[in-house]
Amino acid sequence: MSREMDKPLISLHLVDSDTSLAKVPDEAPKVGILGSGDFARSLATRLVSSGFKVVVGSRNPKRTAGLFPSAAQVTFQEEAVSSPEVIFVAVFREHYSSLCSLSDQLAGKILVDVSNPTEQEHLQHRESNAEYLASLFPTCTVVKAFNVISAWTLQAGPRDGNRQVPICSDQPEAKRAVSEMAITMGFMPVDMGSLASAREIEAMPLRLLPAWKVPTLLALGLFICFYAYNFVRDVLQPYVQESKNKFFKLPVSVVNTTLPCVAYVLLSLVYLPGVLAATLQLRRGTKYHRFPDWLDHWLQHRKQIGLLSFFCAALHALYSFCLPLRRSHRYDLVNLAVKQSSLGFLALVLSTLHTLTYGWTRAFEESRYKFYLPPTFTLTLLVPCVVILAKALFLLPCISRRLTRIRRGWERDGAIKFTLPTDNALAEKTSHV
Ligand code: NAP
Repeated sequence: MSREMDKPLISLHLVDSDTSLAKVPDEAPKVGILGSGDFARSLATRLVSSGFKVVVGSRNPKRTAGLFPSAAQVTFQEEAVSSPEVIFVAVFREHYSSLCSLSDQLAGKILVDVSNPTEQEHLQHRESNAEYLASLFPTCTVVKAFNVISAWTLQAGPRDGNRQVPICSDQPEAKRAVSEMAITMGFMPVDMGSLASAREIEAMPLRLLPAWKVPTLLALGLFICFYAYNFVRDVLQPYVQESKNKFFKLPVSVVNTTLPCVAYVLLSLVYLPGVLAATLQLRRGTKYHRFPDWLDHWLQHRKQIGLLSFFCAALHALYSFCLPLRRSHRYDLVNLAVKQSSLGFLALVLSTLHTLTYGWTRAFEESRYKFYLPPTFTLTLLVPCVVILAKALFLLPCISRRLTRIRRGWERDGAIKFTLPTDNALAEKTSHV
């Protein structure tokens, strides 16, 4: 098992077949790394290929030397920290104290803390790993950096999505030195201020897909509500009032009735914040006032809400495919419309038209009101109808003209007096929330 763990993420053959990793010029700046694990290996590879001389400090250099690029020197910890000015500490927090024997050699040097706590450790310790390291080595300058970059990214090279490296330290000079190294390695340093920010930086990798949390909870909440509603109407009511056992509908039929409702409401929730934002701008007569935080967040999450709507619609398509055709045909048009995510608002209009034509007569049939509850589709119509009506209202020339002017900087009470250009194409380019 331990032999397995010793294997590098990318085969050493590939690393050493890269001739840029085989030899580093003598005058290249020297960097130290404490630790010989996954992160240390990937870091050494990236540093060597970025033109740095690397010396790795290990408790057992003989065992680990073969896993590093041949241009990197692997030696005992004491020797590794003696000459470089910048030393990366690629060991876990619980082992920091085992490095205290190196205090004298490390005095006056820059220690780069790359560690990431687990969720439990993060909650358990009030002080960040970097601050803890600084307290153990008061004669050193500690810089927090590179913890958000995985060993894999380090080795494979930075990609657009994860180039940013948040950096913090109490010493601007040390921060600048590490930032320059990050740039040389192809990353984008982001100055996060003093070492007090280290806790915030250490929390970053713990946040899993932060932009998806609220939209996912929203979709889940809607699903639970609609599922419960459909359960009461389609399963409980026949059971209680007609003694019919329809519990077999729970895993497929009820889910399949619920999914398009969720998809449909989510799709309308993509457009609702835009409508609210436009209403606020019209009321305030300016675009230079901040939206309330909740609206700001809602606007920022529209993409995720739209994708979740698409996901529910696609899942509904899959379910319908598994059901007999006669049950699925009812949702075909909604599906077709929602699946075309690029059609966006048109999908919403088509879905609404379909739901209205499908349900118009049914909405007035008494037998459809089980337990006095209206059919599900009448409930789902509420938000989309509000959105479509509001959008139609905004198309009225008097309102649309005013909104366009506001969005291009005109203010009702402000000094900016503005006339809309006659060129319609230019007006079209105005950003719409
Ligand atoms: P790892 O593979 O377990 O390596 C840890 C290294 O620590 C060992 O190889 C060992 O090297 C060294 N070490 C020094 N003193 C030690 C002691 N007393 N007991 C045990 N080991 C000791 O871990 P890793 O994945 O490289 O992670 C190292 C650090 O980088 C951690 O703080 C981690 O949070 C951070 N990090 C890792 C990643 C990643 O993707 N792996 C990403 C971001 C940050 P020697 O035996 O040669 O001394």
